[in-house]
Amino acid sequence: MSSESQTEKEIYSKYHLKKVINASGRMTILGVSTPRAEVVDTVSHGLNEYFEIKDLVDKTGQYIAKLLNVENAVVVSCASAGIAQAVAGLIVKDDRDLLFNLHSSDKWVAREIIVPKGHNVNFGAPIGTMVSLGGGIVVEAGYANECKPEHIESLINTDTAAILYVKSHHCVQKSMLSVAQAVTVAKKYNIPLIVDAAAEEDLQTYYQQGADLVIYSGAKAIEGPTSGLVIGRHQAIEWLKLQSQGIGRPMKVGKEGILGLTKAIELYINDPKQETGQEMVAKMTPFIEKLNSINGISAKVVWDGAGRDIARTEISFDAKVIGKTAVEMIDLMKQGEIAVYFREYKANEGKVDADVRSVTAEQLDIVYNKIIKIIQGVK
Ligand SMILES: *Cc1c(COP(=O)(O)O)cnc(C)c1O
Repeated sequence: MSSESQTEKEIYSKYHLKKVINASGRMTILGVSTPRAEVVDTVSHGLNEYFEIKDLVDKTGQYIAKLLNVENAVVVSCASAGIAQAVAGLIVKDDRDLLFNLHSSDKWVAREIIVPKGHNVNFGAPIGTMVSLGGGIVVEAGYANECKPEHIESLINTDTAAILYVKSHHCVQKSMLSVAQAVTVAKKYNIPLIVDAAAEEDLQTYYQQGADLVIYSGAKAIEGPTSGLVIGRHQAIEWLKLQSQGIGRPMKVGKEGILGLTKAIELYINDPKQETGQEMVAKMTPFIEKLNSINGISAKVVWDGAGRDIARTEISFDAKVIGKTAVEMIDLMKQGEIAVYFREYKANEGKVDADVRSVTAEQLDIVYNKIIKIIQGVK
């Protein structure tokens, strides 16, 4: 037995942890993703060395900026920290008094952050909490189901510090202005635009469309270590970096995270070994066929609602036939020796989605067998 698998065994047994099959996607509650070996290697090398940290931050930032063809970049501890520090950076700029007293200072400064109402979501924690952490005040534009450029325009005044656009499957999608439309408004009034693109796969498009700061989660699409990436205009990134002496300190990213994410971005850009949607379909097809042979269960391929190249298996449970609702199935699949997690958003419609990006064909067999056992009432 290799020492690696022994360590692995030890982690699960020593702390009495359950093995997990993650058919839910890039979920923070399950540990998000598993970086490639080269990234793990870089993290471990980074841990074993000393650096002039300011230099490490600046030079990895420049390296990433060059890779992505953007003005400037910085690695942060996670996307949420990126949102908070982006807001703080645009409010404080280089004012030392505000930098050191962001929440206690009564000095007047523009603090309003305009967010389309349908973007004011809970991604696991509320967007608004990150804005407040950064010293901002959320001002919602438009309605829960509609936001047009004029809804944002009508709210812009001398207290406006930035516009925040959340590009995410968590958000209301219909009748919302596009990133390009948000850019047009931002430029017209000379207000900076922040785009939270935490789980998005395209590291360039929102910057190219004209956003001032764009934020990504390091462990989601990029599959880096726990970390975040902020890219954008030179000055805005420099202001954000100053926050390491302010609210950024309790969000410190270590040398290992900085080096690990930089490596992961390089691999993501130069060697995108990601599964295509069609490859996902191929992997899940036998699973779907087997599920469809069960009375009371139907399964089919569905494509990502936010337009990413991700195919998932939608599984519908007919409670009248199998005697269990989707909500009960979700709960039972998490019980036992191996916990299986699905995407749960459609549970109230009697459906779950299986995201197979982190699931092997062998694991899909385990999932199938577990479903069978549950509906046959076998313990
Ligand atoms: C995941 C996510 C975040 C938070 O990312 P972390 O890196 O976990 O902090 C923020 N916004 C959106 C839209 C997300 O999907």
